[in-house]
Amino acid sequence: MKPLSNKVALVTGSTSGIGLSMARAFAHAGAEVVMNGFGDPAEIEKLREEIAESAKVPVHFIPADLSKGADAQMLVKQTIAICKRVDILVNNAGIQHVASIPDFPEEKWDAVIAINLSSAFHTSKIALADMQTRGWGRVINVASAHGLVASVNKSAYVAAKHGIIGLTKVTALENAKSYITCNAICPGWVDTPLVRKQIEARAAAQGITVDAATKQLVGEKQPSERFVTPEHLAELALFLCSEAGGSVTGSSYVMDGGWTAQ
Ligand code: NAD
Repeated sequence: MKPLSNKVALVTGSTSGIGLSMARAFAHAGAEVVMNGFGDPAEIEKLREEIAESAKVPVHFIPADLSKGADAQMLVKQTIAICKRVDILVNNAGIQHVASIPDFPEEKWDAVIAINLSSAFHTSKIALADMQTRGWGRVINVASAHGLVASVNKSAYVAAKHGIIGLTKVTALENAKSYITCNAICPGWVDTPLVRKQIEARAAAQGITVDAATKQLVGEKQPSERFVTPEHLAELALFLCSEAGGSVTGSSYVMDGGWTAQ
């Protein structure tokens, strides 16, 4: 028996970056996994097959656009229809948009709030009802250091990430007497496509190399001057799904190379 044998884990936004790493870690810990996210269908199928074959567990892919509440709820309903249950829900899908408030396009504000915050309400609404029938579950909300502190030009992202920490606490309290926990994970800089776009924009704006822009971006906020890795974040998610993790609820775990200690 592996630690997550007989568990079903749904990870939103798991075609890339942090979510992909968590989906892989859950599968190798024995869980049946549902992946979700955007991307080239052939690439996604390759990833799904690779994880299923190497971990020897069923791995499914269910497409859903999490900017739409109905699609987010349908994602969980389809997971339950296919896998008969959902034990672990990771609300990970996220996007970024960088601009000062006067220049921030309204549609970008709406999209960031919908994907980074409201989708977690919609998926949790369906998943919690299912978890409550068994009295066991794990909800992990991927927030950010920006769930605890702010930066300029990230109004929607910072608002959504602060909001998801609030949602995490309410979810934890509503389920505290059962064995259903809800916690937030707050990463610092992680080298994923979401951050690459910011690095490339910085390099272009300042006329510097991508390497110089990377050093500048990480060094400004993160005292370790190193990226946090998706694999380390996946280890933290595995801990939160463990038996010992059952005593942790309503918390925000930072893994940020010292960012929020300053
Ligand atoms: P990423 O761009 O590699 O992955 C984002 C995932 O979300 C992808 O699978 C993408 O397809 C999916 N996605 C985006 N919009 C979607 C939509 N409308 N519907 C369904 N799926 C959608 O980025 P990442 O860095 O791995 O980000 C994952 C989470 O981690 C996000 O919530 C992000 O805010 C958070 N985070 C990232 C960092 C970082 O430095 N990379 C730091 C702190 C927090």
